[in-house]
Amino acid sequence: MLEGRLVKAKGGFYFVNIGNGETLRCRARGKLKDEGQDLVVGDRVEVSHPSQGEPVIEAVCARENYLKRPPVANVDQVITLISVSEPPMDLALLSRMIVCAEAAGLDIVVCLNKIDLADQKTLDTIEEVKSVFQDCCFYTVLQSSILSGQGINQIRQVLDGKTTVLAGPSGAGKSTLINQILPEAQLRVAPVSKKSKKGRHTTRFVELLPWGEGGFVVDTPGFQRLNLDGISTRQLHFFFPDLFPYADECRFEDCYHDPEPNCNVKDAVSAGCIASWRYEKYLHMLNELKQKERQY
Ligand code: ZN
Repeated sequence: MLEGRLVKAKGGFYFVNIGNGETLRCRARGKLKDEGQDLVVGDRVEVSHPSQGEPVIEAVCARENYLKRPPVANVDQVITLISVSEPPMDLALLSRMIVCAEAAGLDIVVCLNKIDLADQKTLDTIEEVKSVFQDCCFYTVLQSSILSGQGINQIRQVLDGKTTVLAGPSGAGKSTLINQILPEAQLRVAPVSKKSKKGRHTTRFVELLPWGEGGFVVDTPGFQRLNLDGISTRQLHFFFPDLFPYADECRFEDCYHDPEPNCNVKDAVSAGCIASWRYEKYLHMLNELKQKERQY
């Protein structure tokens, strides 16, 4: 029996990477379906490979985790990629991607791309972003540019031996970056349209791209709206590591840090210990979740 990683499912076949750059095109044993075991890209599987006949997936190992969007199993970390310019840096979106990654229990790397396009004002904002995510949240923060090559080696190091989801909106430079790091992947990248200044690319299914020794990169199929599914208003503050340490000292144990009096989080914002833009993003998502909960 061989062990491998399901990297792609297409046309009724399952493609399993068994190491040393070798991928087998497999069928799945019918009993897996009968047992209610669906196969998801990222699954660790056992494959029988008779000398005659095609290889067959016989068993699926228990998953460490499972992401719904994109549907992928056994992920170690997320690189949240945003551009600092063209399109302009979107801190609301970045905060949102991070909340979703925190809720999924994944390690987070913040990558600020197209750094070569940054003007002085943008560079100031980048310092601000670093002070929050690097100093308060203890995330790795990278700055990258395909043009100058800045940060590319650091990204390669971060990918080593891990299964990484590369998440980011269209125009962040995701496909260009993957093509730079994994030239063999050859993603279809459409040229940036001058009008919208948004990069367009078309990846239709989720695929794990092998990287180095035991590493995999997941290219997400375009950017889907991160709708905070499965996160409650009571949980939200857990996913703001820069805000949460102050929540313990709030007067009310079930404080939302919104209208309540004697809220230590609000005090920390006033005192400059929590960045006000981060608190704004928190309130914005809190209101959205409150509305959602009212609908039920
Ligand atoms: Zn509070």
